Order: sequence, then structure tokens, then C-alpha cells
Amino acid sequence: MTEARAEIITIGDELLSGETVDTNSNWIDGALEAAGYAVERHTTVPDDLDEIADAFRTACARAELVISSGGLGPTQDDLTLEGLALALGCALRRDAPTIAAIAARFHKMGREMTPNNERQAMVPEVGEVIPNPVGTAPAFTAKLGRARVFLLPGVPREMRWLVEHEILPRVKLPEARVARRTLKVVGVGESRLEHSVLDVVRTHPEVRFGYRTLGAENHIKLSASGPDRVARLEAAEAAVRAALGDQIFGVDKDELSEVVGALLRERKQTLATAESCTGGWIGKLLTDVPGSSDYLLGGVVAYANAIKVELLGVRAEDLAAHGAVSPVVARAMAEGARARFGATFGLSTTGVAGPGGGTEEKPVGLVFVGCAGPDDTIVRELRLPGDRAQIRLSSALITLELLRRKIAGTTTG
Ligand code: ATP
Repeated sequence: MTEARAEIITIGDELLSGETVDTNSNWIDGALEAAGYAVERHTTVPDDLDEIADAFRTACARAELVISSGGLGPTQDDLTLEGLALALGCALRRDAPTIAAIAARFHKMGREMTPNNERQAMVPEVGEVIPNPVGTAPAFTAKLGRARVFLLPGVPREMRWLVEHEILPRVKLPEARVARRTLKVVGVGESRLEHSVLDVVRTHPEVRFGYRTLGAENHIKLSASGPDRVARLEAAEAAVRAALGDQIFGVDKDELSEVVGALLRERKQTLATAESCTGGWIGKLLTDVPGSSDYLLGGVVAYANAIKVELLGVRAEDLAAHGAVSPVVARAMAEGARARFGATFGLSTTGVAGPGGGTEEKPVGLVFVGCAGPDDTIVRELRLPGDRAQIRLSSALITLELLRRKIAGTTTG
């Protein structure tokens, strides 16, 4: 059996002019994938009736499930319902319960409903209104050809609520037709990763391998369909694990900061940071995880040399002799953070994030990261590609990975 196909249509001039980044498609991808669908195409169209109708027709000719976002509001440029009616070849009707719901919502907020709000209640004659308790624009669903179409508002919070509470319960496949697994690593480049698993790919032709790169973080995506999909996937996963060993920090939705946090919590260990070129990014990644105060004691964002000396105990002579971007200073920062905060581990970063400030000796992308622990301190020299944001994020991730391996006892200085 092949996978059920899905397509996403996002509607709005602002998505094509660069004003709004289309995050909805990406979020819907994840939700549909988990529900057993393969999202095969994203289409973005402007606020234009014919373009919208055409997008619905073509997507519905290919996929079993089509989800649109945007263009359900009350203004003249909100044309999604009309576009679907055009594709369906039907007229619009005025949906009385929707008018009543919008009026009630306005009343509750103590606001006057304007006549244009009635536009949101003009829906295709064929299909069903899905009430939206978290906003004014209701959602809508209809059959177009063999496809089931859902129209959702563009506001991300409303869209997500409707997908979770209204769409998924209706479209979730009884059994995933595709088995999937994503294996995640940090600090292993995409080409090296692919090279490491070449043999596995060759010996598991029935499993699809995909690669995704997010700066220093790389993913291998495995998927298998057919009756033996779970067993095939598990065999391929075991082979990838044998090839990559403990370089894999997590799977599927795991985040490195969560994995590191869980390890620290489990061992009742604590952490402090001394960040220069990452400006607090390691702290941000760690504190994105609820409950991180269990193990993160605090950190210093140390840019000025005087701060490195005063708050972290870096020796002024070392700064003068080697410069701030040096292995000696990375070591002293990590050890200083660990000692001053009384933490089990101290992490540090110091480097040239660019775009300016690079020299022949210390080019943009040169970063030293450190991890000080009870037994020893490890310092790594990194030569990172990319722009300032990529260099900083990669530095933060690689430093956390260094800590993960240290906690797991797989790296020594
Ligand atoms: P409403 O008019 O009730 O706000 P709508 O369905 O008409 O809902 P739009 O007007 O298209 O939605 O978009 C509302 C807001 O939602 C936009 O201003 C934008 O901030 C956000 N938005 C729209 N589409 C997307 C998208 N694809 N990804 C992320 N945000 C989006």
C-alpha cells in the first residue's frame, strides 16, 4: 500500500512579498506526517480568485488530503471560500450559525460587528462549516474530486488549534502506512554522515534514506512502507546505529538541549556557562526546556577582556599572550565558570563570528569551545562555515554536544 498523499496551500500576498514567513506549512507537515500522510507539495498563491481556485483544482487532482491556510478573514482580499466554490463549481450560501457565532463573539468582546464580518459566513453550498472557537473565521471542509479539502485561517495559533482538535481526528489514518525514524547528530557534516552509512544504504534497499542539515545538526531520515515496514525500519536503524555509534544524540523530536538536560538531571549534576561569541545562545537553548533550573546554575556572557578576568578568573597574561580567541582562554573560561558557580560542568565559547574581525591567523569561523568537568577540561578548535548566525548556532550546539559526550563518558581530554 502506498502512503496517503497530502498537499498544503498557503494563501496571501504577504507570503510572496517576504512580509510573512510561511511557518504554517512547516507545522502542518509535522502534524500530517505523524498522522500517516506524506506531504508531497506546498503551494503558495496570492490573494487572487483564479489562482486560488486553480491551486485547489490541481492539488485535489493529485492528493487525497489538501489543507489550505489563510484568506478566511472579513476583508475584500480574503477570497479562499470563494476560490473553493469556483473550483467546486458551486455558489456561495450565507451560513446563519456562523453569523450568530461571530455576533456572539463580538458581543462578548464588547465590540460592534461590522457588515464585512458577514463575508466570513459566505461559504460554498457544498461542504461543511467547522466552527472556530479560538477566532472569528470558521474553518470549512468539502470533497473536491477524490480529495478531502480543509480551509483554515492563517493565524498560526488558530490554525494549530483547528488542526489538532478538528482536522486530525477526522483524517488520522487508522494505522501509519509508513514507518519513519529520524536519527540526529551534531558536529558530523552531511557528507561524512552519508559516507558513514553508505554500506547500510546499499544493504537496505527497501528503506528510503534522506538527509537534512540544520547547520551543525544533521538528520538521517529513514522510512519504509509495505507489510514488513516496522521490521525493515528497525533493521536499518540498528545498522545505522552500529555505523555511527554514540554520535547519535537522539531521535525524532528529541532536541539536544533536552537530551543534555535529562542526562544532567538523572545524574544530579549542574552546569554553568561562559559565553563569548555565542552571546548567551547556549543558555537560551538550555532554558527553552522547561525545568532547566534543576541543572543550569547560570552563566556569564563575557565579551570584554576585563569581564573575562574579573568574573571568570581568566589570566590577563593569557589574554595578552594568546588573545581572547584561543584554546588557553576557552579552557580558562570553562574552568572559571565551573569554579565560580560551583557547578559540575562549565562550558565556554570564544571565537570570530564575523562578518568582520577575521585575520589570516584567526579567520571568521574560528571558534574555541571548552567543557570543564570534575576530572579534566576538553577544548576543541572549530572551523565553522556560514554566516554570523550559523557560526554562533553551530558553536552553541557543538559545545552542548561536547558536554553530552563528556557526561556519557565517551570523550576524554
Ligand atoms: P483572519 O483574517 O481572521 O486574521 P485569515 O484566514 O484571513 O484570518 P490571513 O489574513 O491570511 O488569515 O492571515 C492572518 C495572519 O496570520 C497574517 O497576518 C500572518 O501574520 C499570519 N499568517 C498567515 N498565513 C501564514 C503562514 N502561512 N504562516 C505563518 N503565518 C501566517
